[in-house]
Amino acid sequence: MATKSGLFSRNFKKTYPIAACGEGCWIIDQSGRRYLDASGQAAVVSIGHGVPEIGRAMAEQSSRIAFAHTSQFHTAPAEKLAARLLAFAPANFRDGGRVYFTSGGSEATETAIKLVRQFHLETGQKNRYRVISRSQSYHGSTLGAMTVSGNVARRAPYAPMIAEWGHIAPCFCYHCPFEKTFPQCQLACADDLEVHLREHESDQAAAFIFEPVVGATLGAAVPPEGYVARIAEICRKHGILLIADEVMTGMGRTGKPFAVQHWGIEPDIILVGKGVASGYAPLGAVLVSARVVEAFERGSGAFMHGFTYQSHPVSTAAGNAVFDYLDATKFVNRVISRDINKVAVDQVIYC
Ligand code: PLP
Repeated sequence: MATKSGLFSRNFKKTYPIAACGEGCWIIDQSGRRYLDASGQAAVVSIGHGVPEIGRAMAEQSSRIAFAHTSQFHTAPAEKLAARLLAFAPANFRDGGRVYFTSGGSEATETAIKLVRQFHLETGQKNRYRVISRSQSYHGSTLGAMTVSGNVARRAPYAPMIAEWGHIAPCFCYHCPFEKTFPQCQLACADDLEVHLREHESDQAAAFIFEPVVGATLGAAVPPEGYVARIAEICRKHGILLIADEVMTGMGRTGKPFAVQHWGIEPDIILVGKGVASGYAPLGAVLVSARVVEAFERGSGAFMHGFTYQSHPVSTAAGNAVFDYLDATKFVNRVISRDINKVAVDQVIYC
């Protein structure tokens, strides 16, 4: 009989094999059984398992310095990775943008929620705090991230603990919530943001957060042409920030550095996770565009938020090594060959 696990596992009724090693698209358990990892686990390990350069870069960084608190120091790998991510992002991030590194996607969402609130305080719009999102979305597990996530089942047990800031219709042509068909629908799902703002104190709205291609809770749902542009236009019109949650779709996964670039859109904030360190280290990031950074620079100059492990030297060293691997293998260009409007996101990478 298997020994009882001391881990507070995801499901107590399940017995988990012990993953002992990884090679490319394979995970091998303690008994030598091989599992084909066709999805990079939860869309994380985009460069595959066991790439030796990544482990070497992490070991080298930890032997130099493994930790320095961000209240007192910056480190070279974090600075280097920030510069690379800003250069990878749309043009509005490149000159004057900044990066806030976290330990994963949920922390990135939490950070963005507080950041947009403080942006509005810095610019004298004290009423604005609500971050609007879509039904059937997922932005993370922490309470702030759950507040903006629109997946009913995942929210249900925690309903008394999370705020109701408003969810608009998902963009999901396969089961259109308006029972319409594109293009006759005229993007009713995008206009639902306008309707929501009209009906719910638009002066309290701080931002709109969305997954450009919905991952966990719809399954690679690509929006039709014009959707993302219409959303961006409505956000601009109402003075609210646009947050693209690219935790799953970023870092080249859809054939562009970030999925929003398929539609030429410049969000105010981009969230990154998963593929940024390809699972070799816990890492997420909030890419903040120049316009938003400027409000902090001109205002208080200090973000009232922090994590002990933000900008971790070993995690950001892993991120740099993954970036080197993407560059050396021309990884993103090799994903590009398909049209995102015709192919679901998981298929783009793994076909
Ligand atoms: N945002 C999106 C779009 C995600 O898919 C996920 C995780 O699946 C998250 C945020 C949360 O990231 P993490 O699990 O690293 O906290």
